[in-house]
Formats: sequence, C-alpha cells, structure tokens
Amino acid sequence: MENCIFCKIIKGEIPSKKIYEDDKVIAFHDISPAAPVHVLVIPKEHIESANYITQENSKVIAHIFQVINKIVEELNISQGGYRIVNNCGNDGGQTVNHLHFHVLGGRELQWPPG
Ligand code: AMP
Ligand code: ZN
Repeated sequence: MENCIFCKIIKGEIPSKKIYEDDKVIAFHDISPAAPVHVLVIPKEHIESANYITQENSKVIAHIFQVINKIVEELNISQGGYRIVNNCGNDGGQTVNHLHFHVLGGRELQWPPG
C-alpha cells in the first residue's frame, strides 16, 4: 500500500530496528518506546486495522501470536510478563493504519489505560 509507513518498513524503504522476519510478518522496535521493551509485530499483508480481519486473512493473526511467544523469550520478558496491545480506530488511538500489535514489557505496566 502506497504511503503506508509500515509497508515502507516491510519493503526496506525506511529503516527500522528489525528483530524478526519471515514470509508473513516482521517485528521491530517502536521508534518511540513506551516501556523498556516496546516492539511492534505486523503482518506483511496490508490490513488496515482489526476491523479488516476476515476469514481469508485471519490465519496471520494466530501466526503473529506464535511469533510473539518467540520474541518475548528472546527479549527476556516472558517470565516477568508483558502486554500485547492493538489500537483500533480513532477512539482506540490508532495512528498508523496498518494492523500492528504492540508488545510492551520490562517494567510493571499500569491498568487501566487512560
Ligand atoms: P498506534 O498508535 O497503535 O497506531 O501505534 C503506532 C506506533 O508506531 C507508535 O507507537 C509509533 O511510535 C510507532 N511508529 C511510528 N513510526 C515508526 C517507525 N518509523 N518505526 C518504528 N515505529 C514507528
Ligand atoms: Zn501498510
């Protein structure tokens, strides 16, 4: 998708601190971390938001959660705990319209969010 910042990261057109990649997904460090560990895991397919998950494209969601399992081990936060966040739409605080899951950890996180 043109003009999508995450599609550009996938294509290598803008740099990122990538920590995982396979044929379906990539994961990279968030540019503006909200916790000591803050990574984004995204499908390579441009899916606008959680609103656009369908029967046809939803397999990648299960795969993303398996990838997150690997990543949290490697980043050493699996035992301490972490949070997986998806922001959807305006009220959800979504700023990049390419589906992504935040993985946050490395400190005790507050709940509920503001
Ligand atoms: P959201 O607000 O849920 O849409 O999350 C978008 C996230 O993307 C924010 O946490 C941003 O800090 C992050 N972000 C935006 N641009 C970049 C980039 N070029 N590289 C890494 N993370 C980015
Ligand atoms: Zn995109």
